[in-house]
Amino acid sequence: MPHDLPKAYDPTAIEDHWAAYWVREKLFVQPTPAAGERLDGKSFVILLPPPNVTGRLHMGHMLNQTEMDILTRWRRMSGDRALWLPGTDHAGIATQMMVERQLAAEGTSRQQLGREAFEARVWEWKCHYGGAILEQMKRLGVSVDWSREYFTMDERLSVAVREAFVRLYHQGLIYRGAYIVNWCPRCQTAISDLEVEHVEQKGHLWEIRYPILRPAGGGPSEEFITVATTRPETMLGDTAVAVHPDDERYKHLHGKKLRLPLMNREIPVITDEWVSREFGTGAVKVTPAHDPNDFALGERHHLPKINVMDETAHINAEGGAYAGLDRFAARKRIVHDLEAQGLLAGVKDHINNVGHCDRCKTVVEPRLSMQWFVKIQPLADRAIEAVEKGYIRFTPENYKKIYLNWMANIYDWCISRQLWWGHRIPAWHCAVCGRITVPEPGTTGDPRECEHCGSGEITQETDVLDTWFSSGLLPVSVFGWPRIITGAGAPSYPSRGEARAEDRVGSEDRADFDAFYPTTLLVTGFDILFFWVARMIMLGCWFAPDIKMPDGSDRLLAEAVPFREVYIHALVRDANREKMSKTKGNVLDPIEIVSKYGTDAVRFTLASMASPGTDIAFNVARTEGYRAFANKIWNAARFIFMNVDKAAEAGIPSIMDRFRRPYSSEEISAIRSSLKDIPQRAAEGIKRLLELPSDSKGLFGLPLIGSEAIEDRWIVTLLYRTAGEVNKALEEYRFDAAANTVYQFFWGSFCDWYLEIAKLRLDFGPALNMQEFSHREPTEEEDKILERRSIACRSLVPLLLVFESSLRMLSPFMPFISEELWHAVWEGNPPRKSIALAIFPKPYQISEAVPEVIEQMALLQSVITEVRALRKESGVEEKAEISIELKIGADSRSLIEENRDIIERLARVSEVRLVDQISAGLPRHHTPAFDVAVVYERTIDVAAERERHTKDIAKYEKQLASGERDLANPSFVASAPAHVVEGRKKMVAETRVLLEKARAALRALPPE
Ligand SMILES: [Zn+2]
Ligand SMILES: [Zn+2]
Repeated sequence: MPHDLPKAYDPTAIEDHWAAYWVREKLFVQPTPAAGERLDGKSFVILLPPPNVTGRLHMGHMLNQTEMDILTRWRRMSGDRALWLPGTDHAGIATQMMVERQLAAEGTSRQQLGREAFEARVWEWKCHYGGAILEQMKRLGVSVDWSREYFTMDERLSVAVREAFVRLYHQGLIYRGAYIVNWCPRCQTAISDLEVEHVEQKGHLWEIRYPILRPAGGGPSEEFITVATTRPETMLGDTAVAVHPDDERYKHLHGKKLRLPLMNREIPVITDEWVSREFGTGAVKVTPAHDPNDFALGERHHLPKINVMDETAHINAEGGAYAGLDRFAARKRIVHDLEAQGLLAGVKDHINNVGHCDRCKTVVEPRLSMQWFVKIQPLADRAIEAVEKGYIRFTPENYKKIYLNWMANIYDWCISRQLWWGHRIPAWHCAVCGRITVPEPGTTGDPRECEHCGSGEITQETDVLDTWFSSGLLPVSVFGWPRIITGAGAPSYPSRGEARAEDRVGSEDRADFDAFYPTTLLVTGFDILFFWVARMIMLGCWFAPDIKMPDGSDRLLAEAVPFREVYIHALVRDANREKMSKTKGNVLDPIEIVSKYGTDAVRFTLASMASPGTDIAFNVARTEGYRAFANKIWNAARFIFMNVDKAAEAGIPSIMDRFRRPYSSEEISAIRSSLKDIPQRAAEGIKRLLELPSDSKGLFGLPLIGSEAIEDRWIVTLLYRTAGEVNKALEEYRFDAAANTVYQFFWGSFCDWYLEIAKLRLDFGPALNMQEFSHREPTEEEDKILERRSIACRSLVPLLLVFESSLRMLSPFMPFISEELWHAVWEGNPPRKSIALAIFPKPYQISEAVPEVIEQMALLQSVITEVRALRKESGVEEKAEISIELKIGADSRSLIEENRDIIERLARVSEVRLVDQISAGLPRHHTPAFDVAVVYERTIDVAAERERHTKDIAKYEKQLASGERDLANPSFVASAPAHVVEGRKKMVAETRVLLEKARAALRALPPE
């Protein structure tokens, strides 16, 4: 039986099945358009922010991917050419650390292995353990195109990275320079400002006396200048002391020299406006090689830059007696020695903002080193223009300002990293002339000789590129750049001679680029707005203009942007709105929650709380609630299928089969002639079915119902309206509004009202032998059964079709359960391979949609709700049927008359009496539209009532006495907080009323 759903909804069983099915059937593959293919409709293209290949799925990913999947599924179902492109990032530092840890455990190191063997080892690691996160994504059913999965170290993408570098280099936008960088002594690489985590720490401020020298080598005077520092070990590299030029305290020292303690080096006193007179003593030591501000000072005053530390933050030979010491050991020794020489003027406690490496938590050391930079201004200018002109739109909007502000103050981008895992910089150093050779753009071969002196002694740069350099190129590189722009569309850059033909970057089909660039949307977290989003914009706007438009015209900036929209999502916090962190131990593992409640429930939880700019307080209690929602849908399906099966037993042909495809006219006449022998009453329902249109619009759009029943017209109209609201909410990234609207419709309207009313009509009666009716008339009893069946058959049509449409509306939010039930609705033979390929409900205008029916139904619902409330208040037993009196305006009477069966069933009413005046003494409710009363004589158990009232009276008396005692106690009134005293007074007053009521009720009881 296709309708044989398991009794209980078990998400794991169905989710594993469908997740595997979607991947196996390649359902979300978006093929490259064939050459010359006309591209109809809109594209919806979205890149997955590539997780680190070392990564595991966390709640942030789960939110990010849920939002992307909802949007992608919705747009795909709305008829767009949807492409969601996945991949992973090689994650330079993280991956290298992972493998280094392994090596350490084996008692070896990357240095012992050598570069080549180490790289091979990382690839091996990647093949074994890398991309586990993609497997997790597959299990969660994200609708990405797995056929396009990339890895940032793939050959194809590596070509793009190299091309971007050499092109920028030959455009004069890459330079090499000694620079102060944030250096991690553990990772032994420069790290970007964004990768430094600042932590407040208790430290000290040491005040050190630098002796002033007498003029002309006269030796130390009695005078000192006092400087303050939090890192005394850096003094080994001091090359000046700076004061403000207008600082009266030091005017007499301008041009004088100092003796640098411990190092015995002469250093000048310099003046610079940058020095703050108010901070400390107003004199600052200058260490150009170990502090970014001092570096700038050193540049302005042409000071020597003495680097006193090696890569591991040990003092090097420049540090004299301290050479070989770790920086913190050196600090201790230096403070000790200064004190011994009487040069330590003081030590103060100081709260210090100390930079730590984001990856390994080591204290970062600002350090002078040779690095590669991108001269960022020309790239930033375009990236600013693209956003200012609205070619890229941010949601929430305030991120536009944050982005522009950051862009306006951008620094040159340090792109080199001292790692072995990554894209090695394509630059060669010459051992003879010392100059650099970078290959020509558009080529892939490595240079064989120095282009300056012709020497063959050239070696490739050992640094690799910052990981963000490659991920910043993804929007262009995944669609074929730079292979697609040799030839006609090639950019103009200074060319120096012909490249060897065999090395040229090959030409590739540009169909992908034409079809999918610019991408539509980027969904990401705030934390990588600058790391990644800004860099994609800069690199996209820089390289894409070189690619002509499909029609051969120039590509303007509006078409060069990597994406048109950026949606920045919020954080997932714990239930108490705390940020999740390992230290706090409040990190929720999405996979764990998924295995407990199912992916659908977790997705729905996130969606129901996700709206622009609002953090999500993730509470599993809510997930439990959505698990119950899934259960509700499951049970609704079981109820519907039970009736479909009953209909089949009663000889009614499959309804969904009627809608799967149009019947041919031969088929229709065959069915018609078979109806000849069936009694008129039974044939009616089936004939009706044949009359329903069955075009594909009806099939994949909204149900066409052909029913006059109010509940059918109401639910269809509501479905239209809900579809309109959901579409609008998703357009505005209001995932919460969309999810809650679907939820309300499904549970609040479809299950709670529509299904309940439908039960009135679903009566197939006992089995009948239809063959008999060819030679005899049905009895009166049989005729009634046949008539009921005709009604049941008619109401099954809208019931099934509205349910089918609702599943499609639910599908982007809960893809698994909707897929399972959708296949069951279609009896295992759906018109498409997956619900994800069916059409998302749209707010069509058709004649069945009648807004006034919503108001009419609301009136019926209101009558029913009021009667239910009255029943409860009057103590009517759950099962008892009662009469009601209803006083309602003349224009609504016919509505009530026609639908009294609905009121009777849903409010357990035996009779609806329409009256002009409610009889005296009946419990009643008044609303603006009607008055309603229940006609109910309560039969009471006098003894039980007497006991209940007596108990209540005793309880109230006790409460009252205790409250009055407190209030009579002057020390209580004087010492208790005001609100407690107030509360007590209120309690006493209320208890008095209750006590009086109970006493009156007891008196009113008839004698036993
Ligand atoms: Zn580190
Ligand atoms: Zn050379």
